[in-house]
Amino acid sequence: MQTEFSEKFYLDTEGLSTLPEKAERLFEHQISNWKLAAGGYQSLLSVEIKKFEFGNFTIEAHFNPGRIISSSAKVDAKSINERPCFLCSKNLPAEQKAVMAFDNYILLVNPFPIFDKHFTIPTLGHVPQLIKPEITNLLTLSSLLGKGYSVFYNGPKCGASAPDHMHFQAGNSGFMMIDSDFAELSKSNSKIIFEDAEVKTLFVTGCLRNFIAIESDNILKIASEFELVYNFLNENGTEEPMMNLICSFDGSWRLLIFPRIKHRPTYFFEEGEKKILISPAAVDMGGVLIFPREEDFEKITTELIVDVFKQVTFSDDDFHHLAEKMMASEKG
Ligand SMILES: [Zn+2]
Repeated sequence: MQTEFSEKFYLDTEGLSTLPEKAERLFEHQISNWKLAAGGYQSLLSVEIKKFEFGNFTIEAHFNPGRIISSSAKVDAKSINERPCFLCSKNLPAEQKAVMAFDNYILLVNPFPIFDKHFTIPTLGHVPQLIKPEITNLLTLSSLLGKGYSVFYNGPKCGASAPDHMHFQAGNSGFMMIDSDFAELSKSNSKIIFEDAEVKTLFVTGCLRNFIAIESDNILKIASEFELVYNFLNENGTEEPMMNLICSFDGSWRLLIFPRIKHRPTYFFEEGEKKILISPAAVDMGGVLIFPREEDFEKITTELIVDVFKQVTFSDDDFHHLAEKMMASEKG
């Protein structure tokens, strides 16, 4: 299944040693040689933005018509089975090039960007989107890309438009509101659930989407703390608990876990006037809500934003309950 495609698929990165350098060369190459990507990044210049201030944090709404395919993607099993996988190397457009990222992950330029620099990081093989066996790879990719990027993950049932093909994404840091809001939120809106010399786990509330933050400079510690959270979220389930992850690295890791209860809010399924096409994933959890249709962008209010988050993320009660269970177990 692996590397059955031509060597021409890989961009020449001779002379470059770090992943950010290779990513930069790939990006420059693709916007100069691939019309679709050039158009995608050109269209970012006309994205309209509305800012909503909520005291100690901010949510932005972006009108980004380039995202219509992803936001409205059919991700039921039947639709997925019937379409050619757009992350499999054999199905990629001839103009699309890759660089090796790490292990069996490759870096691709996302031609339908949200970020100024937006990469998709799929595995070479066509394997399902599942985080548990891949968490260490997420952390490693984040450290290799360094402080210039956030690396993120959308669960197969809460934002991934290719739930059948394992992939992460990366975007330039500073773009998502959480990048600048986290410092204040972690001071004023958080509760420490666990802390020792090497790892700290916080529950962050009061910012529309309740989330968990794990900070450590020890990859094994952060991975095992993630597994603990995963297991608590998965107590009764056989499938992966719904979650979006945002990881950053600046000498040490910060992994944000946004537990989810629903993929899309009711507005998504309405017809006519009542319909609002919004399909929240990691970037939305990071504080940048993506609206691909202008008629929806015009309807956004503070109330709508509050309700969208309320519908798709953990309630305060459920989140506090989770925190209590975790604290009890970490003590024991
Ligand atoms: Zn595939």
